[in-house]
Amino acid sequence: MSETIPYKIYLSENELPASWYNVRADMKNKPSPLLNPATFKPCTAEELSHVFCNELVKQELNESDAYIPIPDEIREFYKMYRPAPLVRAYCLEKKLETPAKIYYKFEGNNTSGSHKLNSAIAQAYYAKKQGLKGVTTETGAGQWGTALSMACSYFGLDCQVYMVKVSYEQKPFRREVMRTYGAQVTPSPSDTTEVGRKILAEFPGTGGSLGCAISEAVEAATKQESYRYVLGSVLNQVLLHQTVIGLETMTAMDKYGIKPDVIIGCAGGGSNLGGLISPFMGRKLRGEADYHFIAVEPASCPSLTRGKYVYDFCDTGHVCPLAKMYTLGSEFMPSPNHAGGLRYHGMSSILSQLYDDKLIEARSVEQTSVFDAARQFARVEGILPAPESSHAIRVAIDEALKCKETGEEKTILFGLTGTGYFDMYAYKAFNDGTMSDYIPTDEEIAKSLAKTPKGQNLA
Ligand SMILES: *Cc1c(COP(=O)(O)O)cnc(C)c1O
Repeated sequence: MSETIPYKIYLSENELPASWYNVRADMKNKPSPLLNPATFKPCTAEELSHVFCNELVKQELNESDAYIPIPDEIREFYKMYRPAPLVRAYCLEKKLETPAKIYYKFEGNNTSGSHKLNSAIAQAYYAKKQGLKGVTTETGAGQWGTALSMACSYFGLDCQVYMVKVSYEQKPFRREVMRTYGAQVTPSPSDTTEVGRKILAEFPGTGGSLGCAISEAVEAATKQESYRYVLGSVLNQVLLHQTVIGLETMTAMDKYGIKPDVIIGCAGGGSNLGGLISPFMGRKLRGEADYHFIAVEPASCPSLTRGKYVYDFCDTGHVCPLAKMYTLGSEFMPSPNHAGGLRYHGMSSILSQLYDDKLIEARSVEQTSVFDAARQFARVEGILPAPESSHAIRVAIDEALKCKETGEEKTILFGLTGTGYFDMYAYKAFNDGTMSDYIPTDEEIAKSLAKTPKGQNLA
C-alpha cells in the first residue's frame, strides 16, 4: 500500500482550504485576553481598532467560531504559491538509516522565503477592504517585511517597515527585495518616532531589537491618518491565518491514510507551529486522535522551556497591550552571537495556554547543533533551510535516530518554514567553525523577568 504514496504530495487548487480553523473554539481553557496597559482591563474591540484593522480585531477576539471563511480574493492569491507540497524526506531517512518515516511541509516556495506570506496577504486584504492608505510593521530577520511588502504591492497599499538596525546593516539584500516591492524601510531605532528617539538617547549606538521596532511601528501607525499596524507572529489572528499550513497537511495525509505520530515545529512567536498543529490539536482536544506535539526553540532564547507564564509587555516601549504568555521579559535580548532567528521574548498566548495545559512538549536546542542538522538536511534533500526551520529539522532528526535505536516505525512530521539564502553569514560562521553557543544564565533571565508588569488582575 505504501508504495502508492507519492514522495511529494501535491494537492489540487480545489483542495485548498475554504476556511481557516480557529483552535480556540475547541480549547477548554481559553488563552488569556490582551489587557490595556493603563487599566489592566481586557482590551475592547474599540480600543484595539485604533491599532489594528477592524476585521482583524474581530478575528483576534473570536473564541467561538471554529471555522472562519477565507475570502475569495485571498484564496486567489494563495493559489499563486499554494497548496504547498508535503514531502517525504526519503533521502534523509536513508542517510539516517532510520525505520521512521519523515515528512515535511514546505513553506519556502515564494519570494518571501517563508510561511509569513500566508498571513501578510490576509492582513493586507483586510486593510485594503477597510479603505486604509497603508500599514506599518517591524521586521527582524526580514522575512515578514518581505512578505508584507509583497502583499501590500498586490493590493496597492503603502507599506512602512521598521527593520531592526543590525539586520538592516547585515542583510542589505533583504532590504532591497522589500524596496523592489515598494516598501519604505527604516532602520530601528530611528529618529522618526518619539519612542525611537527616546531609545536612541538612552542607548546610543544600539543595534535595535524586535521589541523596539514594534514600538516604533505602532507609534507610526497611530500617528498617521488611515494607517494601521500589522504583526507577523504571536497574535491569534496570525496563528489563525497560518492554519492553512496544517489544514493542507491534514488533507494530504488523510487522503493517503498517513497518521503522524510526532508533529514538530520551530517556535519564535508561535505562528507556524500553531498553524501546523491547530487542526491536529483540534482532533486531540475533541478526543478523536492523539499526537505528540513538539515546539522547538533556541537555547539562547528559551521562552517556553525557561520563561514564566505571566502577563508581560509585548514591546520595549510599552505601547502595546499586555499579553499573558510564556516570556523571558520584554527586555530580554539573546546574546549577539545568536544567528538562528526566533529571538522574540514571548510566545503566542494560544500556544502558551496549550503548553501550560501540557498538550505540547517544548525543547530547546543549541545553534551549532541546529546548523549541523541544517547541513545534513541540505546535503540530501535539495533545499537550503532557513536557520529558524532548522530547529525543527534538529528535533526531527533526533526523533528519527531514537527510532533507529528502538526499531519503532514512527511517522514524523515537521514544518519546513523557509529557505536560508539570506542567512549566509550565519552559515559562514558555522562553516568556518567560529559559531558558538550561548545559553543565558538563570540570573540573566531572572533579571529581565523581574521587570514584567506588576499589579492586580495580572494573575
Ligand atoms: C518568522 C519565521 C519563523 C518563526 O516565526 P513563528 O511565528 O514562530 O512561526 C520560523 N521560520 C521562518 C522561516 C520564519 O521566517
